[in-house]
Amino acid sequence: MLSQRADGERIVGALLGTEGSHALDGELENIDRLYAAGFRMMGLQHFFDNRLGGSLHGESQTGLTRFGIDAVKKMHAMDVMIDVAHSSEATVRDTLAATGNGALIVSHTGFQGHCPSPRNISDETMALITQAGGLIGVGFWADVTCGEERDRDCRGDPLRCETLWRVAYRPGFRLGRFCHDAHRRRATAPPDPSAGRRRAP
Ligand SMILES: [Zn+2]
Repeated sequence: MLSQRADGERIVGALLGTEGSHALDGELENIDRLYAAGFRMMGLQHFFDNRLGGSLHGESQTGLTRFGIDAVKKMHAMDVMIDVAHSSEATVRDTLAATGNGALIVSHTGFQGHCPSPRNISDETMALITQAGGLIGVGFWADVTCGEERDRDCRGDPLRCETLWRVAYRPGFRLGRFCHDAHRRRATAPPDPSAGRRRAP
């Protein structure tokens, strides 16, 4: 697909992934089955603790189980991207340890430093992910922004929202501060005369 794009073709790519690895059902062989079916990204947890370990929303807040350690090692060895968007902080740290500081993905999240919500991972853990070369996708819905009306911004200006979704976190770059600065700049910026035309009625 990248070479087709380089040749000028305007094509859209898609990535097949799981949100939570409950489907493994405690069997490592199911990673092979998912891989054979085309899955190249696997989220470890969703809203509940599972056989791999603790969810960010779960009751235990524990890290990886023995099965979870074996599973992430296998995923890492197969170059499956590991998504910790809903994993507990302990699970994130255990996953970094189990993969030898492998590059993880946080496909959709917010930052505790910007919005102290239980839905968001701490900036310190985010820094560990980025120091290992990970990629963080930042969402702008109310639960992760503490309701700073970014949902409204996105509905009114899909192009800007698309740009913001593509922000990748880099080592030493504090996104919490970036969000506040961007918010302040927008609040003090002169009105954009074309804004009204872009917004939906
Ligand atoms: Zn999710």
